[in-house]
Amino acid sequence: MPLESVIQAAGHDGCEVSGAVFIKSTTEQEVQFYRDALVGDSQLDGTILLHWMPVMMGTLTPGNLHGIEGAEKPVLGLDVTDHINSSVSNEKVKIVLQNLYHGFSHPSILDIKLGKVLTDNTVTPEKAHRLAKVSSTTTSGSLGFRICGMKLWGKDVEELPQIYPNMKDHITNDNDYLSFDKFFGRSLTDSTMEQAMHVFFSAIPAKHRLKVINRFHQRLQLLYNCLLDAEVRIFSGSLLFIYESDPHRWTLVENYDEADPLLYGLPDDSDEEDTSEQNDAPLSKLNMIDFAHATHTKGKGYDENIVDAVENLIDLFDRILQ
Ligand code: ADP
Ligand code: MN
Repeated sequence: MPLESVIQAAGHDGCEVSGAVFIKSTTEQEVQFYRDALVGDSQLDGTILLHWMPVMMGTLTPGNLHGIEGAEKPVLGLDVTDHINSSVSNEKVKIVLQNLYHGFSHPSILDIKLGKVLTDNTVTPEKAHRLAKVSSTTTSGSLGFRICGMKLWGKDVEELPQIYPNMKDHITNDNDYLSFDKFFGRSLTDSTMEQAMHVFFSAIPAKHRLKVINRFHQRLQLLYNCLLDAEVRIFSGSLLFIYESDPHRWTLVENYDEADPLLYGLPDDSDEEDTSEQNDAPLSKLNMIDFAHATHTKGKGYDENIVDAVENLIDLFDRILQ
């Protein structure tokens, strides 16, 4: 199974993608968080956190593929065992997740790190101090979130507004993607954040743009409600925003206003022989990722650090949509 190049907004190197699966090195803690989420509160009326997380298919350790009891089957039934001998090193555990970009033809992506407080009390004083400083000198401290990484497909750097001097030093161009490094987001302020979000949404065809922004706004409100019911503590977790930037896939939806392909993907046109699986994929998506420093904390109530962040993000979308 050939590995495709990985589209990563942020994070450590060494992630691998193959079709519907995404594999990354991580901590036992993240694997445990996924396991606990699977047995989480299915009694609740609203959505549960699991619905916002990529599907976990299992873990890889040298010579072994561990399925997770009760885990959902890989959506597209891919055989991930090919990876066992090719890509497993024995340093860390590898987690096998649903590839959130699967089905998109040219996804643009945004990784927003949540929380003013970025570390729990298990880290070294040095790390706690370093990340407290990152928080206090970025919008993490003021808004409770910051842009951690961003990739835009099909845009020219010269088309972008200059949000602050030297902004373009943080942007590189590879294979039709503009990649914004972590210092791009660290240099933003409360007052320039709105412009940065407009830059992120600029790779949606203009006639669909407002609808997509509205959809993300609604999703954030749903997520907010979900988080009020979730008894977790998530440090340095992210929201991953994804949307389709291939104009061709947008022209396909223009006849399907009622079914709202933004949410459900395109209706399956089974008459057509060459219906590619890509066309069933949605055109935008919002997920929570990165639970390397997250725990379930039953009985402790909601995570104020994360809830405040999402509340401020909703306010930002309110302003964008005004
Ligand atoms: P790290 O611990 O290295 O920060 P993350 O979980 O934050 O790991 O992932 C890093 C990057 O990899 C994210 O910014 C995102 O672009 C990509 N990524 C993470 N999870 C998935 C997934 N399930 N599918 C596709 N891409 C993902
Ligand atoms: Mn991350």
